[in-house]
Amino acid sequence: MEKKRELYRGKAKSVYETDDPNHYIMLFRDDTSAFNGKKIEQLDRKGRTNNHFNFFIMKKLEEAGIPVHVEELLSDTECLVKKLEMVPVECVVRNVSAGSIYKRYGVKEGLDLNPPTFEFFLKSDALDDPMVNDSHIVSFGWGTQEDIDTMRNLSYKINEVLKDLFDKAGLILVDYKLEFGKYNGQLILGDEFSPDGCRLWDKETRKKLDKDRFRQGLGGVIEAYEEVARRIGCPL
Ligand code: ADP
Ligand code: UDP
Repeated sequence: MEKKRELYRGKAKSVYETDDPNHYIMLFRDDTSAFNGKKIEQLDRKGRTNNHFNFFIMKKLEEAGIPVHVEELLSDTECLVKKLEMVPVECVVRNVSAGSIYKRYGVKEGLDLNPPTFEFFLKSDALDDPMVNDSHIVSFGWGTQEDIDTMRNLSYKINEVLKDLFDKAGLILVDYKLEFGKYNGQLILGDEFSPDGCRLWDKETRKKLDKDRFRQGLGGVIEAYEEVARRIGCPL
């Protein structure tokens, strides 16, 4: 597969055209951003770690019957993905309160959320990713009610698979963000699943092993991602 023009350079990844009109190459860079791009740093080995991590998780999800965009690992920092027409919303599932939710609603950090909450946010750095509801998505034409139901159902199904996978590694899957896109009219999971877009705490000590280490300047960011990878059996 030949890598062609860089079509999009996001905050952490770049998307390239290929000689196949149905596929892109996704390159994971070492760039690490937080607060919608207001804090940016380069962290050694991050691109490689997240590429391997994402590939491992996407394959586990595929085995569980979730349609995913990842096709093939091409190098330490690149993977081949299906070309999707992305739905411009982020789907967030929360098992435990952390991050924006406890600030927004005044609930304590670390509360078990049963059933887990589900939220949509508009993907817009300029607007600071505002929360949106089903009605906004349909009225603004970002997706149909059927798309909404599919994204919500797939997000919850992914929760069952991943909560169990991380639990067996002594980790709590606190929350995570997913993005979906259309391929031949079918909604499938796109973007990435890595410690950049989820929260993972050690079950015993509640040590944070995700991007909150970067957001909060706790240090040992990539070492934490590598520890999670090792604990779930993901080769790096
Ligand atoms: P951001 O856009 O938030 O800065 P990234 O740096 O992660 O994020 O850039 C990756 C971009 O590629 C995102 O905008 C994401 O929506 C998009 N994307 C992810 N997977 C696919 C895909 N399979 N097809 C098309 N676009 C994709
Ligand atoms: N998240 C993400 N990208 C975003 C917003 C959130 O990957 O643009 C992830 C984040 O890492 C966390 C979950 O979604 O795992 C919930 O994030 P939250 O709403 O608490 O926002 P935060 O306070 O982390 O910005």
